[in-house]
Amino acid sequence: MCSINQFRRIGKIGEGTYGVVFKAVDVESGKMVALKRIRLENESEGVPSTAIREISLLKDLKHPSIIQLYDVIIADASLYMVFELLSMDLKKLLDKAKEVFTPKLVKSYMFQMLDAISFCHLNRILHRDLKPQNLLVDEYGHIKLADFGLARTFNIPMRAYTHEVVTLWYRAPEILLGTKLYATSVDLWSLGCIFAEMILQKPLFAGDSEIDQLYKIFQMMGTPNEMIWPGVSQLPDFGLKFPNWKPQPLPTLILSYQDKDFLDLFKQIMVLDPYKRISAKNAMQHIYFRNIEPVSHVSLPLDLI
Ligand code: AMP
Repeated sequence: MCSINQFRRIGKIGEGTYGVVFKAVDVESGKMVALKRIRLENESEGVPSTAIREISLLKDLKHPSIIQLYDVIIADASLYMVFELLSMDLKKLLDKAKEVFTPKLVKSYMFQMLDAISFCHLNRILHRDLKPQNLLVDEYGHIKLADFGLARTFNIPMRAYTHEVVTLWYRAPEILLGTKLYATSVDLWSLGCIFAEMILQKPLFAGDSEIDQLYKIFQMMGTPNEMIWPGVSQLPDFGLKFPNWKPQPLPTLILSYQDKDFLDLFKQIMVLDPYKRISAKNAMQHIYFRNIEPVSHVSLPLDLI
């Protein structure tokens, strides 16, 4: 295990759900890293051993589209995670560089994300909180998933480290309806929402509370019932008084998207019933990806790097 003193902090690069992220240099190797600090002040017994065990497992999760966790350090009542450093997150790119999202880049990003998710699911690890803020990009066309496994280790809190409300926009309907049995399909729903956002240039379902999020989903996809989603009425937060919305057409930008095969894949991802939602592995085989081309350069907004 390395020591926290071996890292010199250069500056803060972000604040996420669990803590602050610093850009730092490993003074022994000269390598730049991202150092994530998770304060454990509320843990009277110190760092929970389950957290250490779970996080240590993530060190072995090696994949080209997953941010590599190099090390875990316990120091000053905090848990530090030493990560591979990337340039910026997808949220910043969506906010500041809308023009980069060509059909070719959208396809390449989608494939890389599916590949990474399929790998995690194969290793029985769910993300549960995928969102543009924890997808990181570089100028060579790579996109990598961050924070895999953390939601399980620490639970998804209602508020982030900064007291902001944790975004619900990418959350699967079964989670919003209170399911206790999370399945791999929760990550596919989030990915579908991110996919749509790259095309729409705005979030697909931007709810401001759990019920508003559910209603936004139901208004477009239709309110689920036992016919289309067997078992839905047994979920803890399913209300018999939900308005009975009928499915509406998807947004025009999605229906008229120039890459015609996209729509079919998108519809197989955005299925309310988690058991009928396509898996990451099967999605990678979809005809939409038959003509995928690598993207080797993306012009990132320089002021944000
Ligand atoms: P997180 O707690 O992972 O959501 O991180 C908060 C923010 O810090 C992210 O939205 C990124 O902007 C930034 N960040 C996190 N990890 C890295 C990393 N490995 N490389 C570059 N930026 C990062």
